[in-house]
Amino acid sequence: MHFTSGINRPPFEANSGYLQVTSGCSHASCAFCSYYKDARFQQSSLEEIKEDVLEIPRYFGAPERIFLQGADAFAADYDVLMQTAELIHTYVPSVKSIGGYARIDNFCQKSVEQIRDLVKVGYSNPYIGVESGDDAILKMMHKGYDAALARAQMEKLTEASMPFIANFLNGLGGAGNGLSHAQKTAEIYEGMNISMIEVSSLTLIPKTSLYRRMQKGAFVEAGEHERLQEMQVFIRCLTNETIFLSDHASVPFKVRVKLPEQKQELINGIQSVIDHVSEEQLRMRRKTAEMYF
Ligand code: SF4
Repeated sequence: MHFTSGINRPPFEANSGYLQVTSGCSHASCAFCSYYKDARFQQSSLEEIKEDVLEIPRYFGAPERIFLQGADAFAADYDVLMQTAELIHTYVPSVKSIGGYARIDNFCQKSVEQIRDLVKVGYSNPYIGVESGDDAILKMMHKGYDAALARAQMEKLTEASMPFIANFLNGLGGAGNGLSHAQKTAEIYEGMNISMIEVSSLTLIPKTSLYRRMQKGAFVEAGEHERLQEMQVFIRCLTNETIFLSDHASVPFKVRVKLPEQKQELINGIQSVIDHVSEEQLRMRRKTAEMYF
């Protein structure tokens, strides 16, 4: 099978089968990102996709879900995604749903009707790295879209009844910018069909442009307690009925809870970390976690 950048997936997709439909990243410019630098963005040919689909049973048995590979597999053309689903259902009949990483702008060229078609053939819960709803932060991080565009694409997905997973990148705005980051991200998520929100926390990785900015003093990382307070504001502002998941090495607590039912419990739990774990201890924990990136 073809896996140009290895296999990348969130932890909860561990039991999925994997299939590459794109390689590299269609954007490849986010200031904090070091991933997918080993490949230029490319859409796989249907011949290659078919070859790989035929090999899925050998490598992954009879998976119920396929998690497409590539930084933003939903950048693939509508026709390619539809034909890929047909191949999957023909040759791997155990598959019930298809996901993958996505950029929010992967949906700009797809109509609500086309997204509905994708839902009908099994696409669900793409993992979208929205990161923030704050225009100043999105611009500073070279995300390549603004909050209005992100909101418009999420509205299309919601109208087409395609649930999706969105993230919140804690600390992305740097020191002193957490309040706006938290409030504006919760604002653009309001009313959207988000089945799960996963949080991770900004990790500065050498060789990224953000790391160089930090070295020059042009970007100051948010403190550890400051990040947790930002996360509390984000959770307090959220109005979605969704799952809140923290399972990433960059966040100092693991939790999977239902919102809004467990909102207060979650905010109190984070407060307990702030109260009982010092800034220094959390900082040391982050240094250890950074070795994984
Ligand atoms: S964060 Fe995602 S969209 Fe941005 S450059 Fe990295 S892989 Fe591409």
